[in-house]
Amino acid sequence: MAIERTLAIIKPDAVRRGFIGDILKQIQAAGLMVRGLRMMRLATAQAELFYEIHRARPFYGSLCAYMSSGPVVVAVLEGENAIARWRDLMGATDPAKAAVGTIRKQFGIDVEQNAVHGSDAAETAAREIPFFFSALEIV
Ligand code: ADP
Ligand code: MG
Repeated sequence: MAIERTLAIIKPDAVRRGFIGDILKQIQAAGLMVRGLRMMRLATAQAELFYEIHRARPFYGSLCAYMSSGPVVVAVLEGENAIARWRDLMGATDPAKAAVGTIRKQFGIDVEQNAVHGSDAAETAAREIPFFFSALEIV
């Protein structure tokens, strides 16, 4: 299996409620290596660009307002099959439908405020990682 990199975001609801440490701990316990890490606040326009693929969805405006409502933590995770492993650890988009033990089940509030983001495919990771990190920031 190939070594992959994926983008993780600890979203504003989880940062606000003090779950940065818990989430990073579970990422590391799952054997995913943190190769890049930063706390920042997205401007609305930056959130709109990041979620551009969802522009036509009814929740797009609300999603972008939420993602720029407070600080986030962005991270580059690395490991064998890291993209699918991080998606598995995150759980389903709607925390109410997410499996027990997943991060969204534990820390998500609702289908929008669902604690974390993860790239959904190799091509997505290849766009999302450089959206936030320069080569020099990935160690
Ligand atoms: P995922 O983050 O699991 O890949 P999507 O790519 O479908 O899910 O959606 C991106 C983000 O948009 C979700 O993580 C969530 O924050 C928000 N979202 C998705 N579906 C809805 C919805 N029906 N209502 C409100 N927000 C949503
Ligand atoms: Mg997605």
